[in-house]
Amino acid sequence: MSPPLQLSFVLSAPSVAALPHTAAEVAVVGRSNVGKSSLINALANRKSLAQVSNTPGRTRLLNLYQLANGGTVLDLPGYGYAAVSQRTLSTWPALIEGYLLGRAHLEMVVALIDAAIGPTRLDVQMLDWLRSHELPHVVVATKHDKVKPSQRLRRRGELAAACSLHPADIVWASASKGTGVEQLRGFVRMWLAAAS
Ligand code: GDP
Repeated sequence: MSPPLQLSFVLSAPSVAALPHTAAEVAVVGRSNVGKSSLINALANRKSLAQVSNTPGRTRLLNLYQLANGGTVLDLPGYGYAAVSQRTLSTWPALIEGYLLGRAHLEMVVALIDAAIGPTRLDVQMLDWLRSHELPHVVVATKHDKVKPSQRLRRRGELAAACSLHPADIVWASASKGTGVEQLRGFVRMWLAAAS
């Protein structure tokens, strides 16, 4: 059993330069509404550590969390939601790219994809971008509970193929049901072990 991650909120930064130094960091990235905040809350077993919102696109800053034993988790702004201003949209990719290319001690990028509807075109672009920059990353399929049990095997195959991955390489998770949460806690601890 993997106990909850003891995460505490540090700050919301508008730029990479505003982030404090870290010895090891895991970043979480995904389309707005993919379930990022819910998953961070599930990892910590907290209800509202990260903001869970039905209004996609509200998280527009780099939200930093500290793990009690050392290391940090960075919640990146959600990408690809249309109902925000053009100005904001144009700054997101630069913020995300600037962070991913410029952050020292970034150990792992956790790329979230909606298990029921993904990957979207933007998700695939994100994966291609991560691969082209040789950034270590893991795909986590969120909202696993939304896929009917009878369709899960097929969905796993489809999603993996669309991501150019093997089904076993994808972590299936549900913040609602707890699926995959313990496994992910163990991974985060392992990735951040360099900091402890
Ligand atoms: P974010 O924008 O990526 O941070 O996504 P949120 O965590 O705010 O979640 C977006 C919506 O998806 C909310 O209505 C959540 O309740 C819902 N959601 C998140 N995770 C799950 C899940 O595992 N299962 C189901 N069924 N819904 C989820």
